[in-house]
Amino acid sequence: MNRRGSEELSERMREITPGGVSSPVRGFLPNPIFMDRGKGCMIWDVDGNEYTDLCMAYGPLILGHSPDEVVSAVSEQLTKGTVFGAPSVPEYSLIESIVKKVPCADMARLANSGAEATMHAIRLARMFTSKDRIVKIRGGFHGAHDAVLVNRDGAGYPGVPNGVAGNTAQVPFNDAPAMEKALSKNDVAAVIIEPVQGNIGLIPPEKGYLESVRKIARESDAVLIFDEVITGFRLSPGGAQEKFGVTPDLATYGKIIGGGYPIGAIAGKRKIMENIAPAGAAYMAGTFAGNPISAAAGTATLEKMSSDDNYKRLDEIALNLVRRIRDSVEDRRADASVVCEGSMFQIFFGADPPKNDEEAGKADGKRYDSFFRSMLDHGVYLPPSRFEVNFVSLAHGSAIDAAAEAFDACLKRSAL
Ligand SMILES: *Cc1c(COP(=O)(O)O)cnc(C)c1O
Repeated sequence: MNRRGSEELSERMREITPGGVSSPVRGFLPNPIFMDRGKGCMIWDVDGNEYTDLCMAYGPLILGHSPDEVVSAVSEQLTKGTVFGAPSVPEYSLIESIVKKVPCADMARLANSGAEATMHAIRLARMFTSKDRIVKIRGGFHGAHDAVLVNRDGAGYPGVPNGVAGNTAQVPFNDAPAMEKALSKNDVAAVIIEPVQGNIGLIPPEKGYLESVRKIARESDAVLIFDEVITGFRLSPGGAQEKFGVTPDLATYGKIIGGGYPIGAIAGKRKIMENIAPAGAAYMAGTFAGNPISAAAGTATLEKMSSDDNYKRLDEIALNLVRRIRDSVEDRRADASVVCEGSMFQIFFGADPPKNDEEAGKADGKRYDSFFRSMLDHGVYLPPSRFEVNFVSLAHGSAIDAAAEAFDACLKRSAL
């Protein structure tokens, strides 16, 4: 494949923006690929190469790239105005869809990104409980803001004040006793957790784990925040909380609810949500919060997903692909495991399905990197990092054969 256009653009981009990318996960060696357009499950780069997309922008595109429903909802709104600094009907519709579908959601408030949503949710929980400390899961990702940017060893990322990082404790996923210990002093404002870990590869919760976390948080008067930025409206209409039957106090959203446009949201119980400004004292604001374009795209997406058994269809498409990859792993004796939850999956080389970040870290990174590159050459765009996940969209049905064949060919090579 000729990728000269991407090579040249990358070189120039590195001169004018740090690392040549607008978000670090997009960088990979020798250079990232510049995309030109996408439709359904396919993307085309600036050199005209075609790929089946399994990265899918890290999660928002549950209907595929540029689905007709979203294009027409956005086009209509574009001609009517893009932002008003006043409430609008698209905003009302999106909030209403969230409140109708999400078990914990008596109310919801829109923001511009998943990071904003978790930042505000944590501040809200701190205000509500009059406590400072929070507990997150090691390997959990909640966006790029200080309270949640702590390393495995507990230190803040460079630039995060010690006073901030010092208020964030971390425990391993799928470890209820560790959670219980971290909350034993009743000094924790909030537990923030991805109900299915999706930013350290893919790690589903073990049976009973989320129930235990729910109980522990309640007993120590900590606000339980499910970060459903990935899982919300993906694992079911009501997200992971509906799928696993565990209702948090607050939940954060992003990705899918914007239908491919920037968005974030907090949803939760009325007695907590009512504390958000201007109803209450927990400050939360934004020029573009609830902007009509994202809201119209998101509403069109959620409407489409809630019809025609689409969640069932989506999961079937994903499972069909995952089964074929697992068959190839076995046929090729490829020493890898394939983890799947609904329409998300990831492959771990040289490792069993992990139950926490430490086990996920033991998978073979070098093998993933070379697998990623050989999949590119076979016309499949995977997430460039093994710590992300593959996303299947409703538009992937027609691409399963081609994708499965590429996996088979590349697993054969990687097994040698
Ligand atoms: C993507 C993601 C975020 C951050 O959302 P942005 O819109 O990128 O700020 C937060 N939490 C989880 C679980 C995510 O996957």
